[in-house]
Amino acid sequence: MSEKIIRRDRCPLCGFKAKSILYDADVAHPSVAHFLKDYYKGRVTIGDLKEWRYQVAECPLCGFIWQTYVLGDTLAHKLYSEWISPSESMDKKKAAGMALRRGYAEEAVAISFLIKKPAEQIIVLDYGMGWGQWCFMMWAFGYKIFGYEIASERVSSAQGAGISVLDDDAFKTMHFDFVNCEQVLEHVSSPLETFKKLAQSLKCGGYLRVAVPNGAGIRRAMQDPFWIPGKNAIHPLEHVNCFTRKTLVNLGIAAGLRPLSRFGLLRVFFSSPRLCVRHILGGTSLYFLKI
Ligand SMILES: [Zn+2]
Repeated sequence: MSEKIIRRDRCPLCGFKAKSILYDADVAHPSVAHFLKDYYKGRVTIGDLKEWRYQVAECPLCGFIWQTYVLGDTLAHKLYSEWISPSESMDKKKAAGMALRRGYAEEAVAISFLIKKPAEQIIVLDYGMGWGQWCFMMWAFGYKIFGYEIASERVSSAQGAGISVLDDDAFKTMHFDFVNCEQVLEHVSSPLETFKKLAQSLKCGGYLRVAVPNGAGIRRAMQDPFWIPGKNAIHPLEHVNCFTRKTLVNLGIAAGLRPLSRFGLLRVFFSSPRLCVRHILGGTSLYFLKI
């Protein structure tokens, strides 16, 4: 195994050695090859992924589901900078339109209820900021904003628009009142390590919001003999960690944070029926507090 591909044999959440294999196919298997060719429009070649397999495992101890084989840093950079077309990614974000912006505005209001300080003293970070849209909204509400991102085109775009983008060294020196981590943890090779890093970056009394795809139905779906890889919570190459509410809560606790209860913070979300419903129903969009 080269550094191009990382093999995760132990559960990335609890470290348990044994695992059940839910699906296993190499890159040339028709169902995998067809998905990659179709989804990435021919930008991914089998030669790039000779040592990679689409293998989905489940931990018998904690129930976590993950992909055993993940891309190392070099190929991961290629995935997020080339195989996922930057222009298509930008177009997709723009197409999300007003509903997305309205959601961001509601989250900005919620932050003002959580952090009892004047807006200009509230320091927020968007970890995995993409093109920076979440940061722009927080900026409009007067917060002091920072972003973190690995895809170079997105970094340049956000910096060009005036967002302070942190590199790893700068990130380690800072502490935040609120960290947003949306659609990130399903992509990283070491989710517990990343979660701990985010927990350490919070001030005491600070909050972390994490949102990931909900993989609650994946296990049952994969029991269908006709199940094939697709754009879902265990998406080949990209969604290498598949969370349920339970496993996401457990990850936060393992990182030393306290998950907020379904009903404990309704006063924060009262101004937005949408956020209220989302918080009560829970799913895999959660808030964590650092004590
Ligand atoms: Zn486990």
